[in-house]
Amino acid sequence: MAERFQALLIEEVEGKPKARFAELGLDDLPDHEVLVEVAYSTLNYKDGLAVSGKGRIARRLPMVAGIDLAGTVVESRSPDWQSGDKVLVNGWGLSESEWGGYSRYQRLKAQWLTRLPDAFSLEQAMAIGTAGYTAALCVHALEKWGLPAGREVLVTGAAGGVGSVAVALLSARGHQVTAATGRPETHDYLAALGAGSFVARDELSEKGKPLQKERWGGAVDTVGSTTLANVLAQTCYGSAVAACGLAGGPDLPATVLPHILRSVALIGVDSVMAPPARREEAWGLLAESLDPKALANMTQVEPLSRLPELADEILAGQVRGRVVIEIG
Ligand code: NDP
Repeated sequence: MAERFQALLIEEVEGKPKARFAELGLDDLPDHEVLVEVAYSTLNYKDGLAVSGKGRIARRLPMVAGIDLAGTVVESRSPDWQSGDKVLVNGWGLSESEWGGYSRYQRLKAQWLTRLPDAFSLEQAMAIGTAGYTAALCVHALEKWGLPAGREVLVTGAAGGVGSVAVALLSARGHQVTAATGRPETHDYLAALGAGSFVARDELSEKGKPLQKERWGGAVDTVGSTTLANVLAQTCYGSAVAACGLAGGPDLPATVLPHILRSVALIGVDSVMAPPARREEAWGLLAESLDPKALANMTQVEPLSRLPELADEILAGQVRGRVVIEIG
Protein backbone atom coordinates (compact mmCIF):
# COMPACT_ATOMS: atom_id res chain seq x y z
CA MET A 1 0.00 0.00 0.00
CA ALA A 2 1.30 3.46 -0.87
CA GLU A 3 2.28 5.35 2.28
CA ARG A 4 1.54 8.76 0.82
CA PHE A 5 -0.94 9.43 -1.96
CA GLN A 6 -2.54 12.32 -3.82
CA ALA A 7 -5.98 13.73 -3.12
CA LEU A 8 -7.93 16.79 -4.14
CA LEU A 9 -8.65 18.70 -0.98
CA ILE A 10 -11.01 21.65 -0.52
CA GLU A 11 -9.81 24.03 2.16
CA GLU A 12 -10.91 27.40 3.44
CA VAL A 13 -8.74 30.24 2.12
CA GLU A 14 -9.73 33.81 3.07
CA GLY A 15 -13.24 32.65 3.97
CA LYS A 16 -13.82 30.82 0.67
CA PRO A 17 -13.54 27.13 -0.32
CA LYS A 18 -10.46 26.51 -2.48
CA ALA A 19 -9.22 23.27 -4.07
CA ARG A 20 -5.60 22.08 -4.04
CA PHE A 21 -3.79 18.81 -4.59
CA ALA A 22 -2.48 17.46 -1.29
CA GLU A 23 -0.45 14.45 -0.15
CA LEU A 24 -2.31 12.38 2.42
CA GLY A 25 -1.47 9.30 4.47
CA LEU A 26 -3.85 6.56 5.67
CA ASP A 27 -3.84 8.16 9.14
CA ASP A 28 -5.41 11.30 7.67
CA LEU A 29 -8.50 9.41 6.45
CA PRO A 30 -11.73 9.22 8.49
CA ASP A 31 -12.13 6.30 10.88
CA HIS A 32 -14.83 4.37 8.99
CA GLU A 33 -15.03 0.56 8.75
CA VAL A 34 -13.99 -0.09 5.16
CA LEU A 35 -10.76 1.03 3.48
CA VAL A 36 -11.09 1.16 -0.32
CA GLU A 37 -8.33 1.61 -2.89
CA VAL A 38 -10.00 3.93 -5.38
CA ALA A 39 -9.40 3.17 -9.06
CA TYR A 40 -11.75 5.72 -10.62
CA SER A 41 -13.97 8.62 -9.69
CA THR A 42 -16.01 10.89 -11.95
CA LEU A 43 -16.87 14.49 -12.70
CA ASN A 44 -20.49 15.52 -12.18
CA TYR A 45 -21.99 19.02 -12.23
CA LYS A 46 -21.89 19.07 -8.42
CA ASP A 47 -18.18 18.18 -8.49
CA GLY A 48 -17.70 21.15 -10.81
CA LEU A 49 -19.32 23.40 -8.22
CA ALA A 50 -17.20 21.93 -5.41
CA VAL A 51 -13.83 21.97 -7.20
CA SER A 52 -14.23 25.44 -8.72
CA GLY A 53 -15.44 26.89 -5.43
CA LYS A 54 -18.48 28.33 -7.26
CA GLY A 55 -20.86 26.36 -5.06
CA ARG A 56 -20.63 25.65 -1.33
CA ILE A 57 -20.92 21.88 -1.56
CA ALA A 58 -18.67 20.95 1.37
CA ARG A 59 -20.37 21.53 4.71
CA ARG A 60 -17.14 21.10 6.62
CA LEU A 61 -13.52 21.74 5.64
CA PRO A 62 -11.01 20.42 4.84
CA MET A 63 -12.91 18.07 2.52
CA VAL A 64 -11.76 15.53 -0.05
CA ALA A 65 -14.08 16.20 -3.00
CA GLY A 66 -15.61 13.67 -5.41
CA ILE A 67 -19.19 12.41 -4.99
CA ASP A 68 -18.45 9.03 -6.65
CA LEU A 69 -15.82 6.34 -6.37
CA ALA A 70 -15.19 2.80 -7.54
CA GLY A 71 -12.43 0.54 -6.29
CA THR A 72 -11.37 -2.51 -4.31
CA VAL A 73 -11.77 -3.16 -0.59
CA VAL A 74 -8.35 -3.33 1.10
CA GLU A 75 -9.37 -3.72 4.76
CA SER A 76 -12.76 -4.12 6.41
CA ARG A 77 -14.05 -4.17 9.98
CA SER A 78 -17.54 -4.93 8.62
CA PRO A 79 -18.74 -8.53 8.10
CA ASP A 80 -20.47 -7.34 4.91
CA TRP A 81 -17.25 -6.58 3.02
CA GLN A 82 -14.03 -8.50 2.50
CA SER A 83 -10.65 -7.52 1.13
CA GLY A 84 -10.76 -7.87 -2.67
CA ASP A 85 -14.47 -6.95 -3.06
CA LYS A 86 -15.14 -4.59 -5.97
CA VAL A 87 -17.38 -1.74 -4.84
CA LEU A 88 -18.78 1.64 -5.82
CA VAL A 89 -20.19 4.59 -3.90
CA ASN A 90 -22.59 7.25 -5.25
CA GLY A 91 -23.50 10.19 -3.04
CA TRP A 92 -24.27 9.45 0.62
CA GLY A 93 -22.89 12.90 1.45
CA LEU A 94 -19.46 12.33 -0.15
CA SER A 95 -17.85 15.73 -0.81
CA GLU A 96 -20.53 17.35 1.39
CA SER A 97 -20.19 16.00 4.92
CA GLU A 98 -17.98 12.95 4.18
CA TRP A 99 -14.63 12.63 2.42
CA GLY A 100 -15.05 11.57 -1.20
CA GLY A 101 -13.52 9.89 -4.21
CA TYR A 102 -10.70 12.16 -5.40
CA SER A 103 -8.16 10.22 -3.36
CA ARG A 104 -6.18 7.02 -3.98
CA TYR A 105 -7.54 5.58 -0.71
CA GLN A 106 -10.71 6.36 1.20
CA ARG A 107 -12.34 4.99 4.37
CA LEU A 108 -16.11 4.60 4.12
CA LYS A 109 -19.10 3.38 6.12
CA ALA A 110 -20.09 -0.17 5.18
CA GLN A 111 -23.66 0.85 4.33
CA TRP A 112 -22.56 3.35 1.67
CA LEU A 113 -20.99 0.66 -0.49
CA THR A 114 -22.76 -0.94 -3.45
CA ARG A 115 -21.36 -4.17 -4.88
CA LEU A 116 -20.06 -3.63 -8.42
CA PRO A 117 -22.68 -5.15 -10.76
CA ASP A 118 -21.30 -8.08 -12.82
CA ALA A 119 -22.26 -6.22 -15.98
CA PHE A 120 -19.72 -3.43 -15.40
CA SER A 121 -16.00 -2.89 -14.85
CA LEU A 122 -14.86 -0.33 -12.28
CA GLU A 123 -14.21 2.11 -15.12
CA GLN A 124 -17.66 1.56 -16.64
CA ALA A 125 -19.29 2.00 -13.22
CA MET A 126 -17.71 5.43 -13.04
CA ALA A 127 -18.54 6.21 -16.67
CA ILE A 128 -22.08 5.84 -15.34
CA GLY A 129 -21.39 7.51 -11.98
CA THR A 130 -23.93 9.60 -10.11
CA ALA A 131 -25.10 11.22 -13.35
CA GLY A 132 -25.93 7.89 -14.99
CA TYR A 133 -27.40 6.34 -11.88
CA THR A 134 -29.59 9.46 -11.47
CA ALA A 135 -30.73 9.11 -15.08
CA ALA A 136 -31.70 5.51 -14.25
CA LEU A 137 -33.61 6.68 -11.15
CA CYS A 138 -35.52 9.11 -13.40
CA VAL A 139 -36.28 6.49 -16.07
CA HIS A 140 -37.39 4.03 -13.40
CA ALA A 141 -39.69 6.67 -11.84
CA LEU A 142 -41.26 7.49 -15.23
CA GLU A 143 -41.81 3.85 -16.16
CA LYS A 144 -43.35 3.19 -12.75
CA TRP A 145 -45.70 6.12 -13.33
CA GLY A 146 -46.41 4.91 -16.86
CA LEU A 147 -45.08 6.10 -20.23
CA PRO A 148 -47.88 6.11 -22.81
CA ALA A 149 -47.14 4.30 -26.09
CA GLY A 150 -46.70 6.48 -29.16
CA ARG A 151 -45.75 9.64 -27.25
CA GLU A 152 -42.32 11.27 -27.20
CA VAL A 153 -40.25 11.35 -24.01
CA LEU A 154 -38.24 14.56 -23.61
CA VAL A 155 -34.76 14.80 -22.10
CA THR A 156 -33.48 18.31 -21.30
CA GLY A 157 -29.77 19.11 -20.97
CA ALA A 158 -29.50 16.09 -23.23
CA ALA A 159 -25.80 16.32 -24.13
CA GLY A 160 -24.75 16.51 -20.46
CA GLY A 161 -23.98 13.52 -18.24
CA VAL A 162 -27.46 12.78 -16.85
CA GLY A 163 -29.01 13.67 -20.21
CA SER A 164 -26.79 11.40 -22.31
CA VAL A 165 -27.45 8.35 -20.14
CA ALA A 166 -31.19 9.16 -20.01
CA VAL A 167 -31.35 9.33 -23.82
CA ALA A 168 -29.49 6.03 -24.20
CA LEU A 169 -31.58 4.25 -21.55
CA LEU A 170 -34.96 5.48 -22.73
CA SER A 171 -34.16 4.62 -26.33
CA ALA A 172 -32.85 1.15 -25.41
CA ARG A 173 -36.09 0.52 -23.52
CA GLY A 174 -38.13 1.26 -26.62
CA HIS A 175 -39.26 4.81 -25.97
CA GLN A 176 -39.32 7.56 -28.57
CA VAL A 177 -36.78 10.12 -27.34
CA THR A 178 -36.61 13.84 -28.08
CA ALA A 179 -33.45 15.62 -26.94
CA ALA A 180 -33.43 19.28 -25.88
CA THR A 181 -29.95 20.72 -26.25
CA GLY A 182 -28.30 24.09 -26.59
CA ARG A 183 -25.53 22.53 -28.68
CA PRO A 184 -26.70 21.67 -32.22
CA GLU A 185 -23.23 20.21 -32.87
CA THR A 186 -24.17 17.33 -30.54
CA HIS A 187 -27.12 16.19 -32.67
CA ASP A 188 -25.18 13.37 -34.38
CA TYR A 189 -23.84 12.23 -31.01
CA LEU A 190 -27.33 12.25 -29.47
CA ALA A 191 -28.86 10.53 -32.51
CA ALA A 192 -26.25 7.75 -32.10
CA LEU A 193 -27.40 7.37 -28.47
CA GLY A 194 -30.99 7.02 -29.65
CA ALA A 195 -32.56 10.49 -29.89
CA GLY A 196 -35.12 10.60 -32.71
CA SER A 197 -35.76 14.35 -32.73
CA PHE A 198 -34.46 17.58 -31.26
CA VAL A 199 -35.67 20.75 -29.58
CA ALA A 200 -33.44 23.82 -29.26
CA ARG A 201 -32.69 24.79 -25.66
CA ASP A 202 -33.93 28.37 -26.30
CA GLU A 203 -37.39 27.14 -27.25
CA LEU A 204 -37.83 25.89 -23.71
CA SER A 205 -35.94 28.52 -21.74
CA GLU A 206 -38.11 31.54 -22.71
CA LYS A 207 -41.05 32.13 -20.36
CA GLY A 208 -44.17 30.55 -21.91
CA LYS A 209 -47.88 30.14 -21.21
CA PRO A 210 -48.92 28.02 -18.21
CA LEU A 211 -50.70 25.54 -20.50
CA GLN A 212 -49.26 24.79 -23.94
CA LYS A 213 -49.86 22.22 -26.66
CA GLU A 214 -49.58 18.73 -25.13
CA ARG A 215 -46.55 16.92 -26.53
CA TRP A 216 -44.57 14.89 -23.97
CA GLY A 217 -45.64 11.48 -22.67
CA GLY A 218 -42.92 11.91 -20.05
CA ALA A 219 -39.74 13.91 -19.46
CA VAL A 220 -36.42 13.82 -17.66
CA ASP A 221 -35.48 17.38 -16.70
CA THR A 222 -31.92 18.27 -15.68
CA VAL A 223 -32.32 22.03 -16.18
CA GLY A 224 -35.05 23.39 -13.84
CA SER A 225 -36.24 27.03 -13.95
CA THR A 226 -38.30 28.25 -16.96
CA THR A 227 -37.33 25.10 -18.89
CA LEU A 228 -39.05 22.87 -16.34
CA ALA A 229 -42.06 25.23 -16.22
CA ASN A 230 -42.43 24.94 -20.02
CA VAL A 231 -41.92 21.18 -19.98
CA LEU A 232 -44.71 20.82 -17.40
CA ALA A 233 -46.95 23.08 -19.53
CA GLN A 234 -46.33 20.83 -22.58
CA THR A 235 -46.76 17.48 -20.81
CA CYS A 236 -49.71 15.34 -21.88
CA TYR A 237 -52.71 14.68 -19.70
CA GLY A 238 -51.86 12.21 -16.91
CA SER A 239 -48.12 12.02 -17.71
CA ALA A 240 -45.14 12.70 -15.48
CA VAL A 241 -41.91 14.71 -15.44
CA ALA A 242 -38.93 13.45 -13.41
CA ALA A 243 -36.93 16.48 -12.27
CA CYS A 244 -33.40 16.01 -11.00
CA GLY A 245 -31.35 19.05 -11.98
CA LEU A 246 -30.82 22.79 -11.92
CA ALA A 247 -28.31 23.46 -14.71
CA GLY A 248 -30.53 26.39 -15.77
CA GLY A 249 -31.34 27.57 -12.23
CA PRO A 250 -32.99 26.39 -9.03
CA ASP A 251 -36.20 28.42 -9.42
CA LEU A 252 -39.48 27.10 -10.81
CA PRO A 253 -41.61 29.94 -12.27
CA ALA A 254 -44.64 27.75 -12.94
CA THR A 255 -48.37 27.55 -12.14
CA VAL A 256 -50.41 24.69 -10.74
CA LEU A 257 -52.49 24.52 -13.94
CA PRO A 258 -50.78 21.51 -15.61
CA HIS A 259 -51.18 19.62 -12.35
CA ILE A 260 -54.80 20.48 -11.55
CA LEU A 261 -56.18 20.59 -15.09
CA ARG A 262 -54.13 17.82 -16.75
CA SER A 263 -53.15 15.63 -13.78
CA VAL A 264 -49.50 16.14 -14.71
CA ALA A 265 -47.13 14.79 -12.05
CA LEU A 266 -43.83 16.34 -11.03
CA ILE A 267 -41.61 13.62 -9.57
CA GLY A 268 -38.58 14.82 -7.66
CA VAL A 269 -35.51 12.62 -7.95
CA ASP A 270 -32.63 12.67 -5.46
CA SER A 271 -29.65 10.37 -5.80
CA VAL A 272 -27.63 11.30 -2.73
CA MET A 273 -29.75 9.76 0.02
CA ALA A 274 -31.73 7.31 -2.14
CA PRO A 275 -32.28 4.12 -0.10
CA PRO A 276 -30.40 0.94 -1.09
CA ALA A 277 -33.48 -0.69 -2.69
CA ARG A 278 -33.85 2.27 -5.11
CA ARG A 279 -30.16 2.14 -5.93
CA GLU A 280 -30.39 -1.56 -6.72
CA GLU A 281 -33.36 -0.95 -9.03
CA ALA A 282 -31.45 1.81 -10.82
CA TRP A 283 -28.23 -0.20 -11.19
CA GLY A 284 -30.31 -3.20 -12.29
CA LEU A 285 -31.95 -1.09 -14.98
CA LEU A 286 -28.52 0.15 -16.13
CA ALA A 287 -27.14 -3.41 -16.28
CA GLU A 288 -30.19 -4.53 -18.25
CA SER A 289 -30.42 -1.68 -20.75
CA LEU A 290 -27.26 0.41 -21.08
CA ASP A 291 -25.38 -0.57 -24.22
CA PRO A 292 -21.61 -0.67 -23.43
CA LYS A 293 -20.89 0.85 -26.86
CA ALA A 294 -23.19 3.80 -26.12
CA LEU A 295 -21.48 4.20 -22.73
CA ALA A 296 -18.02 4.21 -24.32
CA ASN A 297 -19.22 6.71 -26.92
CA MET A 298 -20.29 9.19 -24.24
CA THR A 299 -17.22 8.84 -21.98
CA GLN A 300 -13.81 10.49 -21.75
CA VAL A 301 -11.19 9.33 -19.22
CA GLU A 302 -9.05 12.05 -17.64
CA PRO A 303 -6.30 12.21 -15.00
CA LEU A 304 -6.88 13.68 -11.54
CA SER A 305 -4.53 16.55 -12.45
CA ARG A 306 -7.03 17.94 -15.01
CA LEU A 307 -9.87 18.27 -12.49
CA PRO A 308 -9.62 22.05 -11.94
CA GLU A 309 -9.99 22.87 -15.66
CA LEU A 310 -12.65 20.18 -16.19
CA ALA A 311 -14.64 21.66 -13.28
CA ASP A 312 -14.80 25.01 -15.10
CA GLU A 313 -15.76 23.26 -18.36
CA ILE A 314 -18.69 21.35 -16.86
CA LEU A 315 -20.08 24.52 -15.23
CA ALA A 316 -19.80 26.30 -18.59
CA GLY A 317 -21.89 23.49 -20.17
CA GLN A 318 -18.94 22.46 -22.36
CA VAL A 319 -18.60 18.84 -21.26
CA ARG A 320 -20.28 16.29 -23.50
CA GLY A 321 -21.51 13.13 -21.81
CA ARG A 322 -19.49 11.69 -18.97
CA VAL A 323 -16.01 12.21 -17.56
CA VAL A 324 -14.21 9.40 -15.69
CA ILE A 325 -11.38 10.49 -13.42
CA GLU A 326 -8.52 8.01 -13.22
CA ILE A 327 -7.05 7.99 -9.72
CA GLY A 328 -3.45 7.11 -8.94
P1 NDP B 1 -23.77 18.38 -17.09
O1 NDP B 1 -23.12 19.72 -16.99
O2 NDP B 1 -23.02 17.24 -17.65
O3 NDP B 1 -25.14 18.54 -17.91
C1 NDP B 1 -25.97 19.64 -17.80
C2 NDP B 1 -26.47 20.01 -19.18
O4 NDP B 1 -27.49 21.00 -19.03
C3 NDP B 1 -25.42 20.66 -20.07
O5 NDP B 1 -24.62 19.73 -20.74
C4 NDP B 1 -26.31 21.42 -21.03
O6 NDP B 1 -26.85 20.50 -21.98
C5 NDP B 1 -27.46 21.87 -20.14
N1 NDP B 1 -27.27 23.25 -19.65
C6 NDP B 1 -26.16 23.78 -19.09
N2 NDP B 1 -26.37 25.05 -18.72
C7 NDP B 1 -27.64 25.34 -19.06
C8 NDP B 1 -28.46 26.50 -18.97
N3 NDP B 1 -28.00 27.62 -18.43
N4 NDP B 1 -29.72 26.43 -19.42
C9 NDP B 1 -30.21 25.29 -19.96
N5 NDP B 1 -29.48 24.16 -20.10
C10 NDP B 1 -28.22 24.18 -19.65
O7 NDP B 1 -24.27 18.04 -15.60
P2 NDP B 1 -24.82 16.65 -15.02
O8 NDP B 1 -25.43 15.87 -16.12
O9 NDP B 1 -23.79 16.05 -14.14
O10 NDP B 1 -25.98 17.18 -14.07
C11 NDP B 1 -27.14 17.77 -14.65
C12 NDP B 1 -27.98 18.40 -13.55
O11 NDP B 1 -28.51 17.38 -12.72
C13 NDP B 1 -27.20 19.33 -12.62
O12 NDP B 1 -28.00 20.43 -12.27
C14 NDP B 1 -26.92 18.47 -11.42
O13 NDP B 1 -26.72 19.21 -10.26
C15 NDP B 1 -28.18 17.64 -11.37
N6 NDP B 1 -27.99 16.36 -10.70
C16 NDP B 1 -28.85 16.05 -9.69
C17 NDP B 1 -28.78 14.86 -9.04
C18 NDP B 1 -29.77 14.54 -7.99
O14 NDP B 1 -29.51 13.68 -7.14
N7 NDP B 1 -30.93 15.15 -8.02
C19 NDP B 1 -27.71 13.89 -9.34
C20 NDP B 1 -26.91 14.25 -10.51
C21 NDP B 1 -27.06 15.46 -11.14
P3 NDP B 1 -26.99 20.86 -23.54
O15 NDP B 1 -25.66 21.36 -23.97
O16 NDP B 1 -27.40 19.57 -24.17
O17 NDP B 1 -28.07 21.92 -23.62
